[in-house]
Amino acid sequence: MMSKDVKEQPSAENPEELLNLKISKPKVWAAGIPAVTVALVDILQEPGFVRGMEGLFKMNKKDGFDCSGCAWPDPDDDRSPIAEYCENGAKALAEEATTKKLTAEFFAQNSVFDLAKLNDYEIGKKGRIAQPVYLPKGGTHYQPISWDDAFKKIADKLNSLASPNEAAFYTSGRTSNEASFTYQLFIREYGTNNMPDCSNMCHESTSLGLAEAIGIGKGTVTLNDFYDTDVIIIIGQNPGTNHPRMLSALEKAKQHGSKIIAVNPLHEAGLMGFKNPQTVKGVLGITTQLADLYLQVKINGDMALLKAIEKLLYKAELQSPGTVFDHQFIKNNTEGYVAFLNHLNEFDLNHLANEAGVPLTQIEQAADMLKDKTRIIICWAMGVTQHKNGVATVKEIVNLAMLKGAIGKPGAGLCPVRGHSNVQGNRTMMIFDKPKPKQLDKLKEVFGFEPPRQHGYDVVESIQAMHEGKLKVFFAMGGNFLSATPDTTYTADAMRKLELSVHVSTKLNRSHLVHGDEALILPTLSRSDKDMVNGEAQFISCENSMGVVQMSKGMLEPISKDLLNENQIVCRLAKATLGKRSVIDWDKYAKSYDAVRDDIAKVIPGFENYNQKVRIPAGFYLPNGPREGKFENIKFGNKIDFNIAGLPIHEPKTGEFRMTTIRSHDQFNTTIYGLNDRYRGIHNERRVIFMNEKDIAKAGFKEGEHVDIYNNFAGIERVARLFVVIPYNIPEGNTATYYPEANVLIPIDSVAEGSNTPTSKLVFISVKKHEVK
Ligand code: SF4
Repeated sequence: MMSKDVKEQPSAENPEELLNLKISKPKVWAAGIPAVTVALVDILQEPGFVRGMEGLFKMNKKDGFDCSGCAWPDPDDDRSPIAEYCENGAKALAEEATTKKLTAEFFAQNSVFDLAKLNDYEIGKKGRIAQPVYLPKGGTHYQPISWDDAFKKIADKLNSLASPNEAAFYTSGRTSNEASFTYQLFIREYGTNNMPDCSNMCHESTSLGLAEAIGIGKGTVTLNDFYDTDVIIIIGQNPGTNHPRMLSALEKAKQHGSKIIAVNPLHEAGLMGFKNPQTVKGVLGITTQLADLYLQVKINGDMALLKAIEKLLYKAELQSPGTVFDHQFIKNNTEGYVAFLNHLNEFDLNHLANEAGVPLTQIEQAADMLKDKTRIIICWAMGVTQHKNGVATVKEIVNLAMLKGAIGKPGAGLCPVRGHSNVQGNRTMMIFDKPKPKQLDKLKEVFGFEPPRQHGYDVVESIQAMHEGKLKVFFAMGGNFLSATPDTTYTADAMRKLELSVHVSTKLNRSHLVHGDEALILPTLSRSDKDMVNGEAQFISCENSMGVVQMSKGMLEPISKDLLNENQIVCRLAKATLGKRSVIDWDKYAKSYDAVRDDIAKVIPGFENYNQKVRIPAGFYLPNGPREGKFENIKFGNKIDFNIAGLPIHEPKTGEFRMTTIRSHDQFNTTIYGLNDRYRGIHNERRVIFMNEKDIAKAGFKEGEHVDIYNNFAGIERVARLFVVIPYNIPEGNTATYYPEANVLIPIDSVAEGSNTPTSKLVFISVKKHEVK
């Protein structure tokens, strides 16, 4: 069987495959002793006790390495002497520090076709890739290749293209600042801005919305703001699974008197309660209640909810003028206040509550909690951004913050929470398909080559270009592109049309198995690996979600001597591809991160004296004007405009449901650590659909029913077969499924306006009893 015939996802075709599923009662608190136990089991099973504990002890410590999980910041000073990581950080370490390795024998014994029959969990558990491997055209098995030959193959192919724009270079959020910088430099000197990155699929709506509104596509708060604030609003974010150490910050915020409002269609354990395993209270099983008010919106009900809160605050302001809105802030820093109030007047409160899916009395409670408070932090994640109106909702969050003057002062501000450790740093390092002319001018001034000015392809555009045969080469720095992207069948077809696909990876994943005519896997170091260059242990640096840049120094012995760090891979590829055409000393960069940092300091604002500042144990904060009350609006200069956006219009057909994709607790992005989701009471299975009990009854289903899920968008039917119905606390008409299993239902052309982010948090589906084919 040709390896190009493999399935893009092993669909469950036999109901017996689902028999291991066990269901228990969803939890109302997160972490506690079970989190410690699960983390330790993973550590014992993968790297083993000694190697695992050595790694855990250094994770997120000032002289240690940055967790490769989410981008939640480390405390500036008071880091825990016990553990500065969460259950999922420990699982991430267990994955990357495993001693299982994939050598030439493994690839000789396992064809691509056979590997593709495994599910993503089984593939990930195979181990670390120990040497570069190559799949020739028509080949069935990856085979060993030397690094030099691998670089020559890629270089020859890149140099044979009719235009550099026939290649695209993807970046995942793990790539360090240093490797990101050299990578974009190589790509631009090669001649293209085709730089799709994982931001395109997650916080692009934030980056665009905030950049246009306040002048920076990043949040404005620091971790210390959480400890001195009045109210924290958490919208469309599930910190218990996706940013677990945020729970410690929320606990501390509550101890200091803050209130929390949670906004989410699902009742999530990590928003309700926290048992901190590092405190006596937590160990004794005593829960800190987190959300004081839980607003269970419909999927995409956030815009209506925000407007309803704003309208109620406006009503309160009219009753007691000058006590609810921050008129000083509004006068000094905003434009369009009156027009915005007129806009709010157009809405009926009951209609807004109905569109939000939340009883008006609860929205009134939220407004009451906010009306006399001025220090408000608003956090959000994919539940806001991955919608058609994601950019507009981000701007509505800014509207609310402006009314309350809750930006640019201590204890208040905007807090988009990023899901991958250096995703924010990648963008700061100019990994972007739409670079600003000013940035390109600077590259030209410092390096002396003319960077391409034409915008490149983002993720969705890259997939579409592959499909149309416009892209011939796809090079991925990390990630699992096929599992992370929407419309799996379409994307797999697109990837199969490539002439060459290359992945820089630590572990095997599905994107290695659905490939171009030829394919390469280039194995690289992970965060926890010791990075020796010229006999010296080196360190890289990353930027967290709050704009702190910090060093990260791995210390575990790599599982193979045949791994290169990402920066070396870039430099050797650049040298092989560009040869004498290049004006850059790639050998110098390959030998020294300090040399790279010296040049970053010349190009990127805020990185002056990078080599000195990065050696400060807790790192340094990047400049952030809005944090200090200095704004740069796209239309009004130093004043932020109140954005006027209508409510989203949804016209589901009869019998259709809203569906959001979510992660399980045993999952980090596309990495599946296990088959359980203990907070939601799911064990040993991932092909489940969470539905409201009334919807289940109305559809004539019962708990455990086997169903097929259909999406019909723009005349194309997509189907995900054989899922199990689970009754869950989710609003009527709304459903949830795990990705990547349900990505097949997200149409490639269903995207957020402006940011082009796939609408992975809302598609309309119909659910039918499973049909045996
Ligand atoms: S909160 Fe995020 S960064 Fe911190 S240890 Fe957990 S996964 Fe890693």
